[in-house]
Amino acid sequence: MTDTLFPPPVVQTIPVNGEAAAYPVARIFCVGRNYAAHAAEMGAEVDREAPFYFTKNPAAVLPTGSTLPYPPGTSDLHHEMELVLVIGHPVFRASKAEAAKAIYAYGCGLDMTRRDLQNTAKDKRRPWDLGKDFEGAAVFAPLTRAADFGPVADQRIHLSVNGATRQDATLDELIHKCDEVIADLSTYYHLAPGDVIMTGTPAGVGAVVAGDQITGGIDGLDPIALAIGPAD
Ligand code: MN
Repeated sequence: MTDTLFPPPVVQTIPVNGEAAAYPVARIFCVGRNYAAHAAEMGAEVDREAPFYFTKNPAAVLPTGSTLPYPPGTSDLHHEMELVLVIGHPVFRASKAEAAKAIYAYGCGLDMTRRDLQNTAKDKRRPWDLGKDFEGAAVFAPLTRAADFGPVADQRIHLSVNGATRQDATLDELIHKCDEVIADLSTYYHLAPGDVIMTGTPAGVGAVVAGDQITGGIDGLDPIALAIGPAD
């Protein structure tokens, strides 16, 4: 291995139920506006022809149960509860059937969002990075292997803040299904193990402040939790 001048980046991982080894995170792709009611609350149209994407850096990964210091540069930090899937073998220009077979595991995730910065970016036709890709912005619960979870159907997906329900929907409301997302994304990238896909959030996104406790769940998967701490 090449000597490096500074310590190389730490590989971020997500635990997998029933496996001693963890899933290594290489890339994080996120689907935008994949539930009609969420698109509507954002004042946006759903694009039913094809999904669209943004990305997060693996350095944004934070495990469930963490405390996220209220992030810099924002006064409107939002929660987005999402179904996460991870890729288990290489796929490129995949059919939907091939795409489905490439799903290694599912889990609960939080796409934490600096909404004010995202909205400014939208207004100015700039990229979303400052709104979406920051330290602690990608929170993951332990994964469950696809064979153990079974098919994505009408499982409930929900999120509460301090015990009060904010998001409550079912996975059959996903506009672009998991296999469709992978098949589409694989026309742009050579997907491979290490690739994590956050499939989008249902309606009910909203702000959190220091001291808030977020809890979320999807039927059949490990729950997720995040505390919001004071700014550092
Ligand atoms: Mn999202």
